[in-house]
Amino acid sequence: MGSATLFHLAQRGLRVLGLERYDLLHEYGSSHGLSRIIRLAYAEDPSYVSLLHRAYELWRELERLSGERLLQLTGSVDAGPEDGMIFPGALESSRLHALQHQVMNGAELNRRFPGYRLPAELQCLYQPDGGFLLPERCNLAHLNLALARGADIRCREPVLEWEVGAERVSVRTASGRYDAERLVLSAGAWAGKLIPELSSVALPERQVLGWFQPIRPEYFAPDAFPVFNLEVEEGRFYGLPSVVIPGFKLGKYHHRRERVDPDSMNREPESEDEALLRGFVERYFPDGAGPTVMLKVCLFTNTPDEHFILDLHPAHRVVAIAAGFSGHGYKFCSVIGEIMADLVQRGQTRHDIGLFRLNRFAVTESVGRRTR
Ligand SMILES: Cc1cc2nc3c(=O)[nH]c(=O)nc-3n(C[C@H](O)[C@H](O)[C@H](O)COP(=O)(O)OP(=O)(O)OC[C@H]3O[C@@H](n4cnc5c(N)ncnc54)[C@H](O)[C@@H]3O)c2cc1C
Repeated sequence: MGSATLFHLAQRGLRVLGLERYDLLHEYGSSHGLSRIIRLAYAEDPSYVSLLHRAYELWRELERLSGERLLQLTGSVDAGPEDGMIFPGALESSRLHALQHQVMNGAELNRRFPGYRLPAELQCLYQPDGGFLLPERCNLAHLNLALARGADIRCREPVLEWEVGAERVSVRTASGRYDAERLVLSAGAWAGKLIPELSSVALPERQVLGWFQPIRPEYFAPDAFPVFNLEVEEGRFYGLPSVVIPGFKLGKYHHRRERVDPDSMNREPESEDEALLRGFVERYFPDGAGPTVMLKVCLFTNTPDEHFILDLHPAHRVVAIAAGFSGHGYKFCSVIGEIMADLVQRGQTRHDIGLFRLNRFAVTESVGRRTR
């Protein structure tokens, strides 16, 4: 979110500084792991779809400007019981927004995409615009283009505190102090540490991603395997074809439900993490269940309703906040960069961000503290 915001602000000709506590690319946050799902059918809430249309447009624009292929379409599958959350939600958003889609049962889906081995009666929605992004390359594309437009970037420089004075915002880091007219805070899992008002509504959670070497690689290639969101008795899982490394990738939403402190958490995948993911692959994607290729720990930052926080700070209107992406934010980075640039530059945006306002959690405007 920070890289995209930096790019949009620099693109508008503003003088902008990006501060990162770790390296330019690192694996301590939420945006590593070689691939991220992007999809238009949106069970989480149909109102995300308009933002997604703009996100797709901006990802394509980023590809044009960087000369890189960043987004690849595979189609997306949203599957689960008829009375669950994923299938009916994806169907509702597809109908409301007139998205091209097909409904089929698990048996039909398995025939069409032989890497899948879903229960025959499961309800499945296929939407052809789904696919994946290459997050490390997307972040670099935003950063390189921001640099080319005059942005300044400082890495290995943690922000220690910030304060708003009469005229300026001032930020103290481990190695200096900066004054600016405006500030955007997009600290991922550290949001609650930098913004005390968020400490009880942006909660870091440990996740583990697994990559398994397919037994039938041809079934898990991007041209044969749509990305998926799947609701089954073991929980809600997501997965992507084999890209960049020879591994079919998947994860379980809220994995082992481990609320953590990002500064002291266990960053090593354990055998329980692997077993949880392997059990799922063996049951629903047996031709993908070869040797484990890679396991990575990553972080969700969850809000109570799992919708994002995109807003001005309740007490300081020169500070804009992007936080709480609750495990589904990456696909939106391109448009969130635009929204944050709008908010911090003009105090408003043409995008509908009503769902993402901080005051839904009863944060008061005067003191910026949670009151109930
Ligand atoms: C396992 C997993 C799978 C996911 N899959 C998908 C998916 O398929 N599709 C999708 O759309 N989304 C997905 N997501 C969610 C998505 O990746 C996140 O919502 C998104 O990456 C969040 O971006 P961010 O900029 O908020 O956080 P980050 O990328 O973590 O960025 C925050 C940055 O702030 C820096 N920072 C923090 N504190 C300070 C400080 N004090 N000073 C300086 N710098 C600081 C951090 O070092 C970090 O670089 C997934 C997430 C995980 C963990």
